[in-house]
Amino acid sequence: MGFIIDGKIIARSIKEDIKEQVNSLRENKYIPKLAIVRIGDNSSDISYEKSIVKACADVNIETEKITLDNDIDTTKLQNIIKLLNDRDDITGIIVFRPFPSNIDENLIRNTIDIDKDVDCMHPINLERIFEGDYTGFTPSTSKAALLALIKSGVELEGKKIAIINRSMVVGKPLAMMLLSNNATVTICHSKTKDLKSITRSSDIVITALGRAKYLDKDYFNKDSIVIDVGVSLDSDGKISGDVDFSDVLDNVKMLTPVPGGVGSITTCVLLENTIKAALKQRTLI
Ligand code: NAP
Repeated sequence: MGFIIDGKIIARSIKEDIKEQVNSLRENKYIPKLAIVRIGDNSSDISYEKSIVKACADVNIETEKITLDNDIDTTKLQNIIKLLNDRDDITGIIVFRPFPSNIDENLIRNTIDIDKDVDCMHPINLERIFEGDYTGFTPSTSKAALLALIKSGVELEGKKIAIINRSMVVGKPLAMMLLSNNATVTICHSKTKDLKSITRSSDIVITALGRAKYLDKDYFNKDSIVIDVGVSLDSDGKISGDVDFSDVLDNVKMLTPVPGGVGSITTCVLLENTIKAALKQRTLI
């Protein structure tokens, strides 16, 4: 049987480190505070907001929720972000995406203060990753997938890694981070020919294609290390990853479950970024 990479255990140890950092900031009367901006009442946004608020409370980071109507226009949203940029007590800002269609995403991404941009939304922070500069912030999901590997002791240097996803929130930044770790990366997508032969011949497969149980054991080999980022509902309405977990687990070396895998680590990366932002406000880094 393959080894199950437990995201909850990894998340717990990351949170312990973060809590210590927050407590030492608090001893110096400095309190990190994250502003969470949600537009509309999409159920997945509400549940993400709840999990962020809880995770922040667990490590003593303060939060402020800003909930906006779905019909807010770009200028009003920019003005709200500018107010948050200017407030000294707000050390980090996350604005949930995707935005409603009436919002000019490009203008909003360029409005957020780059040193408070804990979700790595500003083009300058994204560009830094493509330049191999990690002084800014990293997109939470990509970094969580990377941490699932590193914290499980997986050596990345020289490994053949297939990523199934070419989006700007997952696949592309992740590919750059893996390159920085000296892996050899293949980015796959819906037009990729013979996906199976690419994944079978890779040492590590990171998938975020978003179709429940799409990948069965034929996509892997017995030494495959598989990181499943996908989150969708299966035919029984249950949350599932891209990988058919029960079919695959016995036929690979390591596998992350869904839920309880990468998703558990994602919020921790946001917490790490929030601490980084707080330190940047005081030019402590
Ligand atoms: P997305 O923008 O729709 O990207 C999906 C990617 O998968 C695209 O690059 C698409 O190719 C590719 N793809 C789709 N079907 C494919 C197939 N049959 N074979 C090969 N490639 C295929 O979605 P996203 O926002 O990046 O999210 C992807 C998944 O990750 C979703 O399940 C989402 O729920 C999950 N997610 C998880 C977390 C977490 O914390 N765990 C966070 C964010 C997202 P094309 O580019 O050609 O369309």
